[in-house]
Order: sequence, then C-alpha cells, then structure tokens
Amino acid sequence: MSAQVITPVQQQQVIGATTATLQQASELLGRSFAPIPVHFNLSGRAAGMYRVKQHEREIRYNPYLFFKYFDDNLANTVPHEVAHYVIDCCHGFKNVRPHGAEWQALMLTLGVEPTVTCRYDMSDIPQRRQRRIEYHCGCRAHQLSTIRHNRVQRGEARYHCKMCRNAVVLKPV
Ligand SMILES: [Zn+2]
Ligand SMILES: [Zn+2]
Repeated sequence: MSAQVITPVQQQQVIGATTATLQQASELLGRSFAPIPVHFNLSGRAAGMYRVKQHEREIRYNPYLFFKYFDDNLANTVPHEVAHYVIDCCHGFKNVRPHGAEWQALMLTLGVEPTVTCRYDMSDIPQRRQRRIEYHCGCRAHQLSTIRHNRVQRGEARYHCKMCRNAVVLKPV
C-alpha cells in the first residue's frame, strides 16, 4: 500500500490555518506581515520547513505527514513554521537561533508548545534515502556516504577501519 497524501480540501484548510495564524501573530505583535506562499512539496522526516531562497520566502509542508497526522500538524506544525517566518521578518533569520528565545516566546504567545522534536512514526512514509557506497578494509564492509566517496575519489580524504586500521577501499582486497 502506498502512502497517502493530503487532499486538496485539506490543503485549503492548512493554507487557511497558516493565514489565520499569521493574522493572529500580526495582531499580537501590532505589525503586518506579507502573505507567505505555501507549498506541499516537502519530503523526508520534517513535517514543515520555512525557507528563504533568493529573497523569496516560502513555507513547505510534507503532504504525507500532513495526511497521516492532520490535526496534530494543523495545531503544531503550522504555527511552528509561521513563527519562523514572523521571527525572520522581525529579527532577520541570520541574527537569531532558529528555535531560540524569540521563536519560543512567539510560540507561547500563539498558545502553542514550542517543541522541535519529530514525534511521528515514519515507517510507512516514503523518504529520500542517502546513497551509500560499499568499501572494504580487509575485515568487513563499510558503507560510505556519497560525500565521503567523492572525497576519496578526488584524493582529498582516506578513511580507516576502526577494527583493523586498514584504509577502506572501493574494491574488496
Ligand atoms: Zn523549526
Ligand atoms: Zn577492518
């Protein structure tokens, strides 16, 4: 069975909740914020993400996790990401820690617990898996990340087995 994604009706609810939360923050802080584009194209373990790309701000939501844990995401992930956006507008994203005091204070003002840990069961949610490449040292196999593999191939790094202390190489010795 493939994992289900959030329906168009639910998407409208989430967009509505995002707008409402932003309005709430606006009233609480006494300043206005531009509407934020919302996209349902986030994959991986996170339920939501706020980002600034070339001065374009957006909130991305995970369509799988929003389907599976709709109410919880509506109540928690939506204010979480809106708060990131508002803190960025007020302080500048680079000047404060992402989940620092300013963000936490705003979450509490919005009436939401400022938690950051993922509480979801991810077992049936499709995830982007990092590719691993098998290396060998002589005593066992080692799974190197693509980043490490490329470093080795460019001659920038060597990795050693903790057990036998041999350098790990691509082909079995
Ligand atoms: Zn966050
Ligand atoms: Zn070894």
